[in-house]
Amino acid sequence: MQGGKGSILTVLKSIVQEVNQIPRLTDALFRLAARVKETMQVDSCSIYLADYTHQEFILKATDGLARDAVERVKIGFSEGLIGLVGQREEPLNIENAHQHPRFKHYPEVKEEHYNAFLGTPIIHQRKVLGVITMQQSAMRKFSEDEEAFLVTLAAQIALEISNAETRGALNPHAGMYVGNMQKNVRGVPGSPGLAMGVGYSPHAAYTLKTWVVKQSTNNQREIDFYRKGVEATRAQVEVLSDRLEGQVPDDVRAIFQLYHQLLDANSLGREVEAKIREGWDAASSLKLVVEAYAARFEAMEDPYMQERAIDIVDLSNRILLNILSEVKGKSVFERDRPQQPCILVAEEVSAPMLAEFPKAILAGIISIKGSNNSHAAILARAMGVPAVMGCQNVSPTLLEHKEILLDGYAGEVIVSPEKAIRAEFSQLIEEERLLSVRIDSEADKACETLDGCEISLMVNAGLSTELETATTSSKPIGIGLYRTEIPFMLRERFPSESEQVVLYRKILESAPDSEIAMRTLDVGGDKPLPYFPITEENPFLGWRGIRLTLDHPEIFLVQIRAMLRASIGLKNLSIMLPMISSVAEVNEARRLVEQAFFEVEEEARHQGVTLYRPRLGIMLEVPSVLYQLPQLAKKVDFFSVGSNDLTQYLLAVDRNNSRVASLYNTYHPAVLSALFDIVKQADQHHVPVSICGEIAGEPGGAVLLMGMGYRKLSMNAFNLRKINWVIRNVNLSEAQALLSRALTSDSYEEVYHHINQYLEKRGLGGLVRAGS
Ligand code: PEP
Ligand code: MG
Repeated sequence: MQGGKGSILTVLKSIVQEVNQIPRLTDALFRLAARVKETMQVDSCSIYLADYTHQEFILKATDGLARDAVERVKIGFSEGLIGLVGQREEPLNIENAHQHPRFKHYPEVKEEHYNAFLGTPIIHQRKVLGVITMQQSAMRKFSEDEEAFLVTLAAQIALEISNAETRGALNPHAGMYVGNMQKNVRGVPGSPGLAMGVGYSPHAAYTLKTWVVKQSTNNQREIDFYRKGVEATRAQVEVLSDRLEGQVPDDVRAIFQLYHQLLDANSLGREVEAKIREGWDAASSLKLVVEAYAARFEAMEDPYMQERAIDIVDLSNRILLNILSEVKGKSVFERDRPQQPCILVAEEVSAPMLAEFPKAILAGIISIKGSNNSHAAILARAMGVPAVMGCQNVSPTLLEHKEILLDGYAGEVIVSPEKAIRAEFSQLIEEERLLSVRIDSEADKACETLDGCEISLMVNAGLSTELETATTSSKPIGIGLYRTEIPFMLRERFPSESEQVVLYRKILESAPDSEIAMRTLDVGGDKPLPYFPITEENPFLGWRGIRLTLDHPEIFLVQIRAMLRASIGLKNLSIMLPMISSVAEVNEARRLVEQAFFEVEEEARHQGVTLYRPRLGIMLEVPSVLYQLPQLAKKVDFFSVGSNDLTQYLLAVDRNNSRVASLYNTYHPAVLSALFDIVKQADQHHVPVSICGEIAGEPGGAVLLMGMGYRKLSMNAFNLRKINWVIRNVNLSEAQALLSRALTSDSYEEVYHHINQYLEKRGLGGLVRAGS
């Protein structure tokens, strides 16, 4: 190969880019083989992919071996040099293939004249997906550079191949997805719950992505089509936004304002009309302009801006449908919508799409793009519809009309399930329904163990108190964590002090006799503010939570004052500080809280009303504070354990990174020991402690925490009744015994085993058994 390091990289990049753009995997692999052969100046390059059902590698593409051997040559996993590369999971570089003891002759490939052999496994997430080889007639060993090139290339193409594998594109018969075969697809949990239905993709018929550009000479007519399309879209967005009124919080509806702004943007219209004047028809002009815009947004590192690309594309797809309706003189929106419950599937599920969908038949949501933090997930949770986000390995059209099972807890989707799986899933849904009826009927019973230990349950809120407490209990319930960042994230600027007062007052008044712990702004990390972009190499270790707000006392003070003003006349406000990692941060925050208190107290005095002093607490979620609890105990009124972050920081695992998702687990015995240690120290120093991480809302987690000594658990409203039921069916003494077993376990898997065994024994297995 020619050139230095720079050019190797460039060549690699260009090969991967080119190959990734080819839609059909088999075509892509042939192109890959050709490019490698040409670039490396070798005599052949071939790609074999693994078929795990038959335990063999199949020749999928080649440039240099006999072309008609493709799909015909099948090499057992333990056969020949290809099998050896797969078994050893490392490259094999030999001068003379024929002399190697593992060489096996496959006459169809016609490789007799080749001597030098270099084979590298293609591995994705520890799984061997195939082998790529280079061969040459010369008897020589390939150089280290050549070997490094092939290894790098194999690593880069592995993801694409894995995606294709999930899509079913590797099926030897069809080279494409086979409709009736069961497929399991992984995404990320977007909204909890189980759902079953038929896949429905609203805009599968016409999208900008699939639109083939066309020229037109009648500029004025096309401009007319475009303008009418925009006008119709504007009217539809208005209707959709109105339709959502009362169904979701106003903050969520604010998403529609963004759509209006996009429609109003002069620049989009100007650019599209300019394209029309260049000779493209209206739909093609829209495609050309929008795709360029979206690419620019998508390339930005800021996840918020990337999300905006989704908004632009969604809105433009709608404009496209309106343009086409104009062109055809009839609506192209109407598609036969299923009458039975369906799973809404889209490349990018958006807020209007959800609004438009009849709620009665909306069983679940699958979004190919997006994450737990995207607007669609926020909305899905607000509407109580199970959702799986980020299913990158499938395309909506493949799921259209397919039967789908969706597990919003685990972020899993099963397409075209086998009979037995479907039956099992229906059973689980039915069990879930029956259980929830039973649990609901006892929801108001006191939360107390069989041996009389009282546990206080609180709710984690943040989207809107009405929505999040409506499903919980007939009596008002305290809030153990109110996440204030969501209203900040859904706006176009920092909310003003008086806007915040209105919001916080509503929450404090929702349960005036119960404690409400409001957390100060915890943005940064994975929660960016659209109007306050932060670009960092390691956002979770960066400018996050209290670090950011202490650097901006003006933001912090406005928020604290708003909380205090909202609490005038009430006694239930607690203020909680996120991401505390040192005593100095508490001192500084306390000083600012005092300052705000005196300002607001003065104001209250003038009005003749009382301002009660709020309790000040800190989140325990950064490991350093575990070693400063005695000092911190003197400074604060309470502790609240943020086990979600504590897990990520103790285990050094990014909580949002799907690559290391299997390493992130709060039941890791080290994390459990830390949680146990916290409650022991807090008791010793007489500081009230509660826990508001996800573990508190899980059946096994709640039992373990109770065994440790936690008496206040705060959780997602969805889990409250379930945990109440669990607590009322267990014994404290048994929880303590279970805890001892968990703490001495080697792994979280072992902890799960003990938990499951115990819950089964107590008749609570249905809450944790696979899928239920
Ligand atoms: C936590 O870290 O456990 C927590 C409750 O806060 P958040 O999930 O908002 O970071
Ligand atoms: Mg946290």
